[in-house]
Amino acid sequence: MKFGGTSVATGENIRHVANLVADCAKQGYSVVVVVSALDGTTDKLFEAAEKAKKGNEECIRESKKELFERHLTAAAKAIENKRIRKEVEQITEKTIDELEKVLTGISYVGELTPKSKDYVLSFGERLSAPIVWGALRDLKLETQFFSGKEAGIVTDSNFGEASPLMNVTTHQLREKIGPLLEKQIIPVVTGYIAATQDGVVTTLGRGGSDYTATLLGAALAADEVWMWTDVDGLMTADPKIIPSAKMLPELSYQEAAEMAIFGAKAMHPRALEPIMKENIPARIRNVFNPENPGTLISNEQTAKRVDVVKAIALIRDVAMINVSGAGMVGAPGSYAKIFEVLGKNNINIMMISTAVSEANISLVIRRNLLGRALSTLEIALLGRGLVSEVTAEDDVCVIAVMGANMKGTLGVASRLFTTVARAGINIRMIAQGSSELNISFVVKEKDGEAAVRAIHKEFKLDKT
Ligand code: ADP
Ligand code: ASP
Ligand code: MG
Repeated sequence: MKFGGTSVATGENIRHVANLVADCAKQGYSVVVVVSALDGTTDKLFEAAEKAKKGNEECIRESKKELFERHLTAAAKAIENKRIRKEVEQITEKTIDELEKVLTGISYVGELTPKSKDYVLSFGERLSAPIVWGALRDLKLETQFFSGKEAGIVTDSNFGEASPLMNVTTHQLREKIGPLLEKQIIPVVTGYIAATQDGVVTTLGRGGSDYTATLLGAALAADEVWMWTDVDGLMTADPKIIPSAKMLPELSYQEAAEMAIFGAKAMHPRALEPIMKENIPARIRNVFNPENPGTLISNEQTAKRVDVVKAIALIRDVAMINVSGAGMVGAPGSYAKIFEVLGKNNINIMMISTAVSEANISLVIRRNLLGRALSTLEIALLGRGLVSEVTAEDDVCVIAVMGANMKGTLGVASRLFTTVARAGINIRMIAQGSSELNISFVVKEKDGEAAVRAIHKEFKLDKT
């Protein structure tokens, strides 16, 4: 069971989470708990690291105080037993002191490397897990807590978005976590964080607790992996944009992965990888509405449903780059050159579209990487006869429309784009993968929500 940031946002919520786990344990299930940081903590740590880099010591003290108080308050509400609470408080204090030292170190050198950033970001989960552990003990459950590193999750050293080394990770998780389950002990593992083979702390990318949960689920051959969150399941659209969005009761791995990859923030894009191979179902469930069975993600084909479009995602914080030049026409390897330059600089391309004329190519990347992407492209490409211009738009968003039944159904694209046009929204770029499971397009950011609303209505998704 993985509990997301909102599920453990407050002491009351943590108590509630502990009760959910206890109920399951009482029914005879073996449970492994994976916890996220308290809602908003990872962002706070990010800010603190940035400010520390600028040498702002006042901010370090403030962040320390704020985090310390928030976690102590949560512990006080989540744990009744004084002795247990004291123990958790001591761990919290020690962890916060370590964080202060790290931030101070960053402020002295005035440099924030991806490596030290991961170290700072790991503190959110390191602070939340002990409180959940304390709340479980408070309910008389036997439990033990681990950081991702202690649990045995080993990754490469791509800080910020590290990839697990599957064989060693699986082996270690089985060795370290497996035996506890036989002894009816509930392991509480920090989500999101891991370590390289040399023990340097890494993170699995934002939202990575989902990934931690499925790594554990796959290694321990779980019956199911449950991701508890603040909505009923995967929905036809983000309920924060479309309040009438409906829950999707069942999805295939492929459909859910498509949604995750295309930014339905509800799940980490790689979270399904480990369990898909082992055929272990996942369930997205609402902590605040546990009677609802949630969305079941499994191997079952759900394409029997008649709706072509199943869900719509809005991906913000992206930018579009246009590379053009007559020199690219009929020049083998010109696209490869662009991809190579970006790849070497660790810039992931989210979407591509080209015209048969070959005179230009449009790419979508994360907005925070735009500056780096533009400068590397300009240095590598301009003035060499291949590319004459590199331009960018940073006020755009991507809309991805998904559904397995889109495959082979005629007219989906025309209906989609007619709807968007009727809403008076201009489309900047379009891409449809040959899997035909999704169509993605780029519009101005200000038009994003309106486009989602128009499509949701046109395809009657609130009636599914
Ligand atoms: P957690 O902290 O539990 O991991 P996240 O904030 O990462 O939760 O993801 C849950 C949120 O994802 C929901 O509150 C919802 O606003 C958002 N979301 C976006 N698209 C969807 C979707 N299609 N279905 C469900 N939730 C979505
Ligand atoms: N705390 C991390 C984040 O905010 C990981 C997670 O919540 O899954 O991205
Ligand atoms: Mg999440």
